[in-house]
Amino acid sequence: MKEPGGPLGRTNAWKIVKNDKKTGLFHAYLVLSRDEKYLRDILKRFAKLILCGEDGCGTCRVCRLIDGENYADAVFLPANGDKILTEDVNALIEDSYVKPLEGDKKLYVVVGAQNMPAAAQNKLLKTLEEPPKNVVILMGATNAYALLPTVRSRVKTLEIPPFTAEEIETALADTCRDREKLALAAACGDGTVGRAEDLYRDARLEKLFDLTAEIVVKMKSSRDVLKYANLVLREKDRLGDIFNIASALFRDMLAEKQGAKAADAHALKKVRAATGFNVGSLVSALEKTEEAVRRLSFNANETMLAEWWLFAILEGKHKWQRS
Ligand SMILES: [Zn+2]
Repeated sequence: MKEPGGPLGRTNAWKIVKNDKKTGLFHAYLVLSRDEKYLRDILKRFAKLILCGEDGCGTCRVCRLIDGENYADAVFLPANGDKILTEDVNALIEDSYVKPLEGDKKLYVVVGAQNMPAAAQNKLLKTLEEPPKNVVILMGATNAYALLPTVRSRVKTLEIPPFTAEEIETALADTCRDREKLALAAACGDGTVGRAEDLYRDARLEKLFDLTAEIVVKMKSSRDVLKYANLVLREKDRLGDIFNIASALFRDMLAEKQGAKAADAHALKKVRAATGFNVGSLVSALEKTEEAVRRLSFNANETMLAEWWLFAILEGKHKWQRS
């Protein structure tokens, strides 16, 4: 894969750090990316941007050493996949007083900061506020909710936005050769390369897609809602994927209605037979689906959520047909 973690170079987050490098780096950054699978790689690329003489060229000695996590002035935590504990933070603090060995800066890369226990976060506070000279702390998290407000206020937050399906397809083109399947996986993911790659390799993706497309095309009455609620609940553990697939379909249907380009034209063909959707009901369906994703992330009851979501789509359709 050419760019693990996706097209970072075009994000504002990248531009900010690149610019800070010229004007003076901040002492602590928090990179927020939903891509749990590639978070470590994303942080690695920021580490290279910060420490390589050519803004993270990817080929020089420093970049290659950082890739292998062997560069003396870039310390990755946790060293293996575990979560960061207070003793790791203690070691970081102690080590931060040792001068850089290779260059003029020392970088600590904290991967998966959302999993840090509050005690470990508290321990890190003082260093975040006033690290020793030439020390930069680069934290990465999949979300900021689990971070203490005191931690958040001491770091410069850089958000990696969801990537477009097209950007994800480009990032994965070398390793995921089935273009049609890749387009589907990229459109149905959550805007991250990691999720799209997992979906691409997921044998159930097509089955989930077919079920979702059938709902869009065939659900016309309250009785259908109950039927489809049952079918959806058989895939209870994949409710989030079903919502993401539905979002992708509604977004593309809407794009087509508005004369814009669909992200996945092939998938759109499968819902060609859908009737009764206009711009209003599609916008409504999209909003309700996004709301469903939110409710799911707050651990809503799945049975109630599935029924609520299906009814909401149907209701939107009826409402907009009348008006
Ligand atoms: Zn380099």
